[in-house]
Amino acid sequence: MPEVLHGTGVSPGVAAGPVRTMSGAVPEPPAGRRDTGDTAAERARALAALDTVGADLEERGARAGGEARDVLAAQAMMARDPGLAGVVTDRIDEGLSAPRAVYEAFNTFRAALARAGEYMAARVADLDDIRDRAVAVLLGVAAPGVPDSDEPFVLVARDLAPADTALLDPAKVLAFVTRDGGPTSHTAILARAMGVPAVVACGDCMDLGDGTMVLVDGTSGEVRPDPTEQELAAAQAEAEARAAVLGAGAGPGATADGHRVPLLANIGGPKDIEAALSCGAEGVGLFRTEFLFLGRTTAPSEEEQESVYRAVLEAFPSVVVRTLDAGADKPLGFLPPPDDEPNPALGERGLRLFHTHPGVLTGQLRALARAAEGLDVRLQVMAPMVTDAEETRSFVAACRAAGLSRAGVMIEIPAAALRAGDLAAEADFFSLGTNDLAQYAFAADRQISGLARFQDPWQPALLDLVALAAGAAGAAGKDCGVCGEAAADPALGCVLTGLGVTSLSMSARALPGVRAALAAHTLDQCRKAAEAARRATDADGARTAARAELPGLDPLGL
Ligand code: PEP
Ligand code: MG
Repeated sequence: MPEVLHGTGVSPGVAAGPVRTMSGAVPEPPAGRRDTGDTAAERARALAALDTVGADLEERGARAGGEARDVLAAQAMMARDPGLAGVVTDRIDEGLSAPRAVYEAFNTFRAALARAGEYMAARVADLDDIRDRAVAVLLGVAAPGVPDSDEPFVLVARDLAPADTALLDPAKVLAFVTRDGGPTSHTAILARAMGVPAVVACGDCMDLGDGTMVLVDGTSGEVRPDPTEQELAAAQAEAEARAAVLGAGAGPGATADGHRVPLLANIGGPKDIEAALSCGAEGVGLFRTEFLFLGRTTAPSEEEQESVYRAVLEAFPSVVVRTLDAGADKPLGFLPPPDDEPNPALGERGLRLFHTHPGVLTGQLRALARAAEGLDVRLQVMAPMVTDAEETRSFVAACRAAGLSRAGVMIEIPAAALRAGDLAAEADFFSLGTNDLAQYAFAADRQISGLARFQDPWQPALLDLVALAAGAAGAAGKDCGVCGEAAADPALGCVLTGLGVTSLSMSARALPGVRAALAAHTLDQCRKAAEAARRATDADGARTAARAELPGLDPLGL
């Protein structure tokens, strides 16, 4: 094991703790007849494994509470289903081993479910999860998913999917380290939202043994196994010094000469309200509503939606809510895209999914309008993955029909940025999703760590697209915020301001750094930094050129 492992730091801060590894795929048990002839013992072993899985799911549900309890209780029932047990024992009687019998029995039900229409097909993933848990018990290998631990730990994984993290206890996770993923992967966004350090694209991390003590630096991207006392103390001192600088200022976002740039928070639901307020968010610039409904196999009712939206709308003076962005990196069980899409990121995701499920959008808009009734809040609603003026027009019309007065669009497809003038004529505001804008501008899947260089928001081509969209919005007298991860970088926050962006929305913990960077520079300095960055030919060149125009960053340690 090397002395230091290197990856990409995507969520700042340092933390130390023991490693817990998220186990990978459970192997398929070998096909064919078993060697031993003891049918009764094999039957008992299989049924006991199913019962263990049922009890474990129930117990995890009881600990998690709320929505997760119902989901896990339903899964526990599936594990203990008598019909399933019957098929398992039949297979054992035919001569299969217990693990293989369980595997094949689940697959029989799986195939039937997959054919039984949209709702049932969405349960296939649940069934696969129970199958893998039961096979893991029988093979004596680790269960899939987030490990259980009584003490806080550093979570090490190949990558994290939204469903993996739905049950994470934030009090237990000290830091994330993943082998895959880039700066805009789900791991990175989640870590920043939780305010814990994270390193992604860390090639050797899966070789760290469970229990190994590691020091994780989410700024430099270094992961140090078995750190010395001195290294731990130095890291702690550095973290405290940085926290002191960032904690010093508060108040609304503005440049040194008073040009206002509202600083807003990206949230995934009511659980993020407290952090946003404590970091001085002036409002919410991106409420990712799909994060509320991950792991759900049925659409949430309008009443349920209304009550969670209201909790958020009551907490802030202004909130930008994004309608469900399902598909590709954010799959939602109850909004499945067509199964035969070879490339889901280019398929029916975001606003496009509503062509196939129109009732879900109108229901969500109705719930939002009702949630805002009687509240003194500026509610703005926007759609993800909007391509052109026609889509903008139909979304704005749907919002108006629901009684919503402010309707905007996310600019995250290059075509939308190139023809931003057409979209600005239809929409009330823009919000730039630089994560997807980079993915589509560079034809580089944001989930592939080997392509992380193209997710670097300092790429001059991305800055050109931002300038186009911000310019078109400005000409039409419309607001144009940024809510992609680009807004969370203090130096880039100044550059975006110089490009004409009117607000910056980010994970709560990034707000103090961006606030301090803006306050240390004039609007003219921000514009010069933006021009310098656009003259560069690559991301590193843009970063260096912009920083040379922003002398206030280094003294602040930003
Ligand atoms: C983006 O694409 O920049 C964005 C903010 O949306 P998400 O990361 O949720 O796709
Ligand atoms: Mg996006």
